[in-house]
Amino acid sequence: MSALVEFVDLVVRFRERGGARELTAVDGVTLALERGGALALVGESGSGKTTLARALLGLVPITGGSIRFGGRELGALTAAERRAVSRRIGVVFQDPFASLDPRMSVAELLAEPLAIHGISDVREQRARSFALLEAVGLSTHDIVRHPHEFSGGQRQRIAIARALALEPELLVLDEPTSALDVSVQAQILNLLASLRERLGLAYLFITHDLGLVHQMCDSIAVLYFGRLVETNRVASFFREPLHPYARALLALARREADARERIVAAEAPSPFALPTGCSFHPRCPRRAEGGGRCEGERPPLLELALPSRASVACHLRAPTAVSDAGNPR
Ligand code: SF4
Repeated sequence: MSALVEFVDLVVRFRERGGARELTAVDGVTLALERGGALALVGESGSGKTTLARALLGLVPITGGSIRFGGRELGALTAAERRAVSRRIGVVFQDPFASLDPRMSVAELLAEPLAIHGISDVREQRARSFALLEAVGLSTHDIVRHPHEFSGGQRQRIAIARALALEPELLVLDEPTSALDVSVQAQILNLLASLRERLGLAYLFITHDLGLVHQMCDSIAVLYFGRLVETNRVASFFREPLHPYARALLALARREADARERIVAAEAPSPFALPTGCSFHPRCPRRAEGGGRCEGERPPLLELALPSRASVACHLRAPTAVSDAGNPR
């Protein structure tokens, strides 16, 4: 499979509002999403996962590096070419109550993206809208209703239909089920899984939910304060997470946390003053094994030998340490 999206040494910095301080929200991230693949971006709040997706969508300016979509560098495109790329990317946000304009009917919500991209024939808009409603499991009779007349799960189905209106190749899914009841979450994930299979879509999930990652994704990228600390295939990650932070996230998700993992719940550093060396070191249960390197040297992201296709940024990346990381204590 070839890459659909490539982040190449991407850097995004923000200046504090009204202040002189600057924070690096995304710090040298190189990462690819294959055509038809499903990649999860995970990490705590402030890890940079949402900023990475917003940079892809053109919603935040990038400071350095580049983003390619379908092999073309987004920064080199004309405005018309950038609009054409934006048709190929749909977005579903976390909160279907906030993402749908309550004044608009379903017909208007589905017609809007079509009209913006030049599909203005009303009969064509209506035919496409009916097909979209059926694709997401809603009735064509729902087209005259307004968002407040639907449940949360139904609203998220409308949001998904809207994201699919322009027949994208990629859906960016920002915590798509976290605002929904558990039973409804399962229905939405099943819908997304069947749409991906039927339409050959690629998915970029931004999520805290490792259960969702396990169910929906092929690969995972773990971010910590803007830096990639691990990339892995999902099956390998759940068998043997490589980075101490990833290992702790998984242990916490499985409610297996013991003293070694609970240290991750300690207070996170300020993004304006990250620790030297490995920025995870004040919270890392294994930093003593680094012999001083953890505090003084930033570990590079290194690829492991094939066939794992994994990479990890940790000074304890030696094969014995990697193997040890797979056995949470
Ligand atoms: Fe922990 Fe050191 Fe690895 Fe950072 S480099 S994750 S502090 S062991």
